[in-house]
Amino acid sequence: MVEIKTDQSIDEMRAAGRVVAQALAAVRDAARVGVSLLELDRVARGVLAEAGAASPFLGYRPHFAPVPFPGVICASVNDAIVHGIPDDRRLRDGDLVSIDCGARLGGWVGDAAVSFTVGRPRPADLRLIGTAEAALAAGVAAAVPGNRIGDIAHAVGSVCRDAGYGIPEDFGGHGIGRSMHEDPGVPNEGRPGRGMKLRPGMVLAIEPMVMAGGRDDYRCDGDGWTLRTVDGSRAAHAEHTVAITADGPSILTTL
Ligand code: MG
Ligand code: MG
Repeated sequence: MVEIKTDQSIDEMRAAGRVVAQALAAVRDAARVGVSLLELDRVARGVLAEAGAASPFLGYRPHFAPVPFPGVICASVNDAIVHGIPDDRRLRDGDLVSIDCGARLGGWVGDAAVSFTVGRPRPADLRLIGTAEAALAAGVAAAVPGNRIGDIAHAVGSVCRDAGYGIPEDFGGHGIGRSMHEDPGVPNEGRPGRGMKLRPGMVLAIEPMVMAGGRDDYRCDGDGWTLRTVDGSRAAHAEHTVAITADGPSILTTL
């Protein structure tokens, strides 16, 4: 079931989204060589607490997970694609970091992710991150009334494939609202003109993931959460929560 949100609900979701954007900005600001992933998680916890928001990540336990998620951010470094558990690992020069964060405020959820480097960046990593961001922008631009889910999927996937990158199979974006994961699914690759028609009031999390090695398969760590590339190549992730409105796409997870 796809819930169509009222204008007022979208405004309330924007408030939740703003908290996510604030948390991601604070984490990015704090991330430097020598800082641990747990410290970054504490930074995000502070922003959520200050805003009176809860975390939809903390304690989350989908069907595939052996243990509830222990953090308020996913921190995925280098060959980790998504779902990295924030631990005492300290960031090193040249690391590529993907941070995913959610917030629940007033009963509504926001969900967004950013990727960045710490220390001296590798040019290949900047290109990888730039591609994830460009794929996200293309997906957002396709999120207009009258288009279909397949148009978003095609827009996202084309940018990633044109750059020669792999796209992890089975993972993609999703509807979002009172729950973090709602219908419909938003694949990161697909055929234009296919799938559910987009209507004003639909809110979607669009989240391209790219893998530098060009393969589409991945493996899961022993922790049951962290997804990694199978070839050790690096990965990047970008995500926004986006409302489809009569005036076009509106990004909710922004300052
Ligand atoms: Mg997310
Ligand atoms: Mg998401």
